[in-house]
Amino acid sequence: MTDRQQKLPAALFEIGKLIGSDLDPGILLSRIAELICQLIDAKACSVMLLDADRKRLLAKAAYGLRTERMHSLSFRVGEGVAGWVVEKGEPALINDVTQDPRFLILPENQTPVASMLCVPLLARGERVGVVTATSDRPNTFDTSQLDLVRFIATTIALDVENVRLHRVAVTDPLTGAYNREFLLARLPQEIEAAVDRNHPLSVAMVDVDHFKAVNDQYGHGIGDLVLAEVARRLRGAIRAGDILVRYGGEEFLAVLPKADAGRAWEVGERMRQRVCERSFSVGDGLALILRISIGIAQWRSGENMPHLIERADVALYGAKDRGRNRVEVAP
Ligand code: GH3
Ligand code: MG
Ligand code: MG
Repeated sequence: MTDRQQKLPAALFEIGKLIGSDLDPGILLSRIAELICQLIDAKACSVMLLDADRKRLLAKAAYGLRTERMHSLSFRVGEGVAGWVVEKGEPALINDVTQDPRFLILPENQTPVASMLCVPLLARGERVGVVTATSDRPNTFDTSQLDLVRFIATTIALDVENVRLHRVAVTDPLTGAYNREFLLARLPQEIEAAVDRNHPLSVAMVDVDHFKAVNDQYGHGIGDLVLAEVARRLRGAIRAGDILVRYGGEEFLAVLPKADAGRAWEVGERMRQRVCERSFSVGDGLALILRISIGIAQWRSGENMPHLIERADVALYGAKDRGRNRVEVAP
C-alpha cells in the first residue's frame, strides 16, 4: 500500500466529521483544501463558489496560497480552467498547463502552476462552484486523484450549498446585514444564553439622521449605496460575536452580547464616530457627511424581546429629541 492509500480512510473520516460540525464555513473549507493537498500531493488547493448572479467564481477558501492571493482569485464563467469547468459541469485534468489553451496566466505574481485538476461542485444537480488543485511539477495528477477529488467535492457540495442558501435567507441583500426574520429567531436565543451564563446583554437601535434629505438631493440609487456603506462602517465598529440587523429602511439594530449599558454606550459612540468621521462619496467627486442617532437598552431580567427593542427605540427618540448625532441609554 502506498503512503497515500494509507492516509485515505483517516482523511475521509475527518472530512465527514468536518461536514457534520458547526465550524465556520471558511475554516471548514480551508481544512478540506489542506486534506486534499495531502491526499493527492498538490501544492495548493482552492474552493471557489459562484456569486449570487452566477456569473463569477470567487475563492472562498484555500490552502497553499497566500491570503491576499486567495481573495483576489476570481474567474468569470467560461474564463480559465475553473470557468470552463463550472460552465461545462465537467472536470479537467491537465498534465502540462503550457499545452492547454484553457489555462489563463494571471498577471499577479502567482504560485507556480505546471499541472492541475479542477472538478465542479454540484448540489442537487446545480453547479455551485469548483475545487481546484495545482502542482508546480507537470504530470502530477492522474484519473485516480481526479476521482478522489470528485468524490470529496460531491461530499461537500450539498453542505456548501445549504450554508449559502441559509446565508441568503437571513441576509438583507442591500446591506449584507442580517434581516428581521433572523433577529426574531436569534435574539431570544441570545437572551437565553445571557441568562444561562449570567452575562449582561444590550441592544443598540441606530437610525440615520435626516436620511430623507440624502434621497431627495442625490436620488434613491445613491441613497442605497450610502446605506450599504453605513452598514459596513457599523459592522467595523462591533465585535465578531455581535449581530448587526437591518431593522427597517435606514434603521439598524445591533445585538451586543456580554455588554452592559455602559459598555454598549461605548460601542454606540464608536459606531457614531465611524459613520461621521469620514465623508461618503455620492458620485461626481461629491461627498457628504452623515450622522446617526443611537438608543441603547440593557436587557432586564424577565423582559421579553419586543419590550427590550421598544425601550431602545424610546431611547433613540430621546437622542433625536436632544438634537441627534448622539447616543442615549434607556433608563
Ligand atoms: P431623522 O431620522 O433624523 O428624523 O430623519 P430621516 O429623514 O432619516 O427620517 P425618516 O424616517 O422620515 O426618513 C427615512 C428615510 O429613509 C425615508 C426613506 O425614503 C429612506 N429610506 C428608507 N429605506 C431606504 C432604502 O432602502 N434606500 C433608500 N435610498 N432610502 C431609504
Ligand atoms: Mg432617520
Ligand atoms: Mg428612520
